[in-house]
Amino acid sequence: MNKRIWLSSPHMGGDEIKFVHETFESNWIAPLGANVDNFEKDLGDYTGVKHVAVLTSGTAAIHLALIILGVRQGDEVICSSFTFSASANPIVYQGATPVFVDSESTTWNMDPQLLKTAIEARLKLGKKPKAIVIVHLYGNPAKLSEIEEIAAGFDIPVIEDAAEALGSEYKGAKLGSFGKIGILSFNGNKIITTSGGGALLSDSQEYVEKARFLATQARDDAPHYQHSHIGYNYRMSNVLAGIGRGQMIVLPERIRQRRYNFDYYKNKLSGLPGVSFLEEENGSFSNKWLTCMLVDPKLSGGITREDIRLYLWESQIESRPLWKPMHVQPVFEQYPRYVNGTSEKLFQDGLCLPSGSNLLDEDLERVTSGISELFIK
Ligand SMILES: *Cc1c(COP(=O)(O)O)cnc(C)c1O
Repeated sequence: MNKRIWLSSPHMGGDEIKFVHETFESNWIAPLGANVDNFEKDLGDYTGVKHVAVLTSGTAAIHLALIILGVRQGDEVICSSFTFSASANPIVYQGATPVFVDSESTTWNMDPQLLKTAIEARLKLGKKPKAIVIVHLYGNPAKLSEIEEIAAGFDIPVIEDAAEALGSEYKGAKLGSFGKIGILSFNGNKIITTSGGGALLSDSQEYVEKARFLATQARDDAPHYQHSHIGYNYRMSNVLAGIGRGQMIVLPERIRQRRYNFDYYKNKLSGLPGVSFLEEENGSFSNKWLTCMLVDPKLSGGITREDIRLYLWESQIESRPLWKPMHVQPVFEQYPRYVNGTSEKLFQDGLCLPSGSNLLDEDLERVTSGISELFIK
């Protein structure tokens, strides 16, 4: 029986356990301590963002970002439609309305022209969006210059969901450093992981101090427990921050390995009829978190991404369709959307291939020969 090949599994470097051990030695088994402080410092140094707060999840980071930017009941927030639901859920936590904007086909991320159309249309309705959540899907940088220019023109703050894009760059700067607030995720399937975790990043000290305050139950400065705000329990555990410190050491290596996977797949598969891969734009550098393949059934002799997914699964290989856009998710059905068909087409024709940094050449070979086989059949 073949061993199972997973889509994206955790990959420890070896030093994580040393930092975790220190928490036991010092008994700082708590949501604060030296690992929390140092992991925040490591992330700040790496991304070039001045202030960082590590949290329980990327979702928590997006939630706090919205609160800090003043998003409340009845407000509207623009969000990429082509994403994972965690980009949009916190908008609804706040009682606000997500307004979904579709993708363009060169980065698969938010279409700047459509963003402008959406903002103008909401303004006409007398509803100025309170914030824009842009996502860098699969590590691919969005068209940030265009988006930032539009957002600045309307004076709307950008939240950068870089959950999948730690280590990716746009015009030489790390993703997560562009928006008013950036967020990261360290969930088990991300490029580095703390099992579960996230971070909020900003050059604004005020924002990040506010995030720490809200994430630790919003305790006012008093000897007793005094509260004048609703708080959250969103701070990262010092134990898990130890894993994060160890993972930061191997991050550059993880990016190299994920990019290797992409090149391997592209070399072996892009000759197949109807198969294509997303290319990096000039000035963009992707961490290639997941390698995604598009299959056009009109050119592939009728083979669909679902045929490939099922065929791989028979030989114990996990692959997954691209994200199903938010505007076609039952839970978000009632919300406004500005769409152009791009993300629905990507969902229909796209497949994420196994992309872990711990895959061996023989694993990659099993995937590519499996797919090639199906095309010969
Ligand atoms: C993983 C992910 C999140 C949420 O991060 P968690 O740490 O799992 O809460 C948000 N947005 C995107 C695009 C993600 O992929």
